Amino acid sequence: MRKQALLFLAAATTLVLACNNPKTGDAINMKYSITEKPFGVFENEPVTQYTIANPSGMQVSIINYGGTLTNIITPDKDKKPGDVILGFDSLAGYLQKGNPYFGCLVGRYGNRIAKGKFSLNGQSYQITVNNNGNMLHGGVRGLDKVLWKATKLAGDSSLQLTYTSKDGDQGFPGNLAITVVYTVTTDNSLKIEYSATTDKATPVNLTNHAYFNLSAGKEPTILNHELAIQAEYYTEVDTLLIPTGKLPEVKGTPMDFRTAKPIGRDLAAVKGGYDHNWVLNKAIPGLEKVATVYDPSSGRVLEVLTTEPGLQFYTGNFLDSTLTGKYSRVYGQHAALCLETQHFPDSPNQPGFPSTTLHPGETYHHLTVYRFSVK
Ligand code: BGC
Repeated sequence: MRKQALLFLAAATTLVLACNNPKTGDAINMKYSITEKPFGVFENEPVTQYTIANPSGMQVSIINYGGTLTNIITPDKDKKPGDVILGFDSLAGYLQKGNPYFGCLVGRYGNRIAKGKFSLNGQSYQITVNNNGNMLHGGVRGLDKVLWKATKLAGDSSLQLTYTSKDGDQGFPGNLAITVVYTVTTDNSLKIEYSATTDKATPVNLTNHAYFNLSAGKEPTILNHELAIQAEYYTEVDTLLIPTGKLPEVKGTPMDFRTAKPIGRDLAAVKGGYDHNWVLNKAIPGLEKVATVYDPSSGRVLEVLTTEPGLQFYTGNFLDSTLTGKYSRVYGQHAALCLETQHFPDSPNQPGFPSTTLHPGETYHHLTVYRFSVK
């Protein structure tokens, strides 16, 4: 009797795994898979590219160097698959000087810390500086430039990456044990879950630096993409992009994305292009939708949900056609946009901003979802 029940269950499962798509009538593979491919060698260690595929036509590839997203393939409005992020075909591309953080994990502190300096519990710290005398994205050798340990999780839809940044790494205090899990879900979302623990108080601000162009190569820039950001305020910055501490209102300014508008509409009025942190209208630490991007040329929509209080919207201002990426595409200015979910820049020196200090005994948590659809 038990055997019969088990056989029935197995048959039912097979049926579910190979059923027909009700819309198209096509047989669809209901299974998830994670495949692996060698992707070069870094400091004598093999680098592997993992590709997570879901049953709805989405594929996400990740390499363990920098925990970098190398490809996100999603269908357009005509069901044609296309790769919606910038990146390179080979490890050499990612290792080259001038790789502008394509797709990587960023930390220990995403964005800038003024002069790389802060004090914590009465002690001063100096982090390596790499951006006009300031620290950007974790210093000279941030988490984007190290090899992570990758583990495929049960169910074939998640890849877990772990890395321990040692006490003193780039000048940061404490051994920081970090776990990042990339998960692809059936509704074509990419979920990124970050967690970390420390043995000394230290600032932590982890994010991902994917450069999106939803047209997948149809459009050389994202200027016609339409963007909405749920924010009334942004963090004002000085000429070196360090926050002044002021939080001006977006209302009636080029920074106003409360209702969707083409990114190119007001861009010329923002010196250097958009490269700012928006103060999200949301309860912390709940997961909420904070931004939506729509590309009329492909019909693709990207919704961003996060638990974080801030969003760095960057329009690829420093891309200057010197880099050639996948599919032999030359990346010119504004070829893509970044939506980096984060705490505010320079928080360790801004007592008015939400704290980024992680204490021993606490766990840092950050969840961001990039959800793709079409309209
Ligand atoms: C920063 C930009 C920087 C870029 C690096 C962004 O997060 O806000 O200023 O140039 O990362 O690629």
